[in-house]
Amino acid sequence: MANEVTEAKRTAAKDDATTVDELRQMVRTFVAQREWKSYHDPKSLAMSIAIEAAELMEHFQWLTTEQSRELLEDEERRWQVEDELADVFIYVLSFANAVGTELSEIVRRKIARNQHRFPVEKVIGKLGDADDKTSSKNQES
Ligand SMILES: [Mg+2]
Repeated sequence: MANEVTEAKRTAAKDDATTVDELRQMVRTFVAQREWKSYHDPKSLAMSIAIEAAELMEHFQWLTTEQSRELLEDEERRWQVEDELADVFIYVLSFANAVGTELSEIVRRKIARNQHRFPVEKVIGKLGDADDKTSSKNQES
């Protein structure tokens, strides 16, 4: 695992130097080379996103909010969590590839809708302490 971490750091790419299209193409090529395209139907990919999201959540199951933050201070655990986050994102990219969705468009559209649903002046200060689980209303979905 340590060698993988070291290797990944050496080949690190930055988000501000990578386009969504580059990532989509990378995933598209990976899938095509393995002839997996026929398996990439909307149902299977939606399920895969949820399965990988569950794998991401598993790392934090039973932890307190503070423990969940501390977990990410451990380099190997952080690597494992990031691995699951990557799995979720790769399946999101695969879903977009499979159905021809423009991710930039739908994210902008959703954020615009959320800005309308949750105007800053109406939500600021309404949630209270983030660690107080009784005041978690008004969360976006
Ligand atoms: Mg996984």
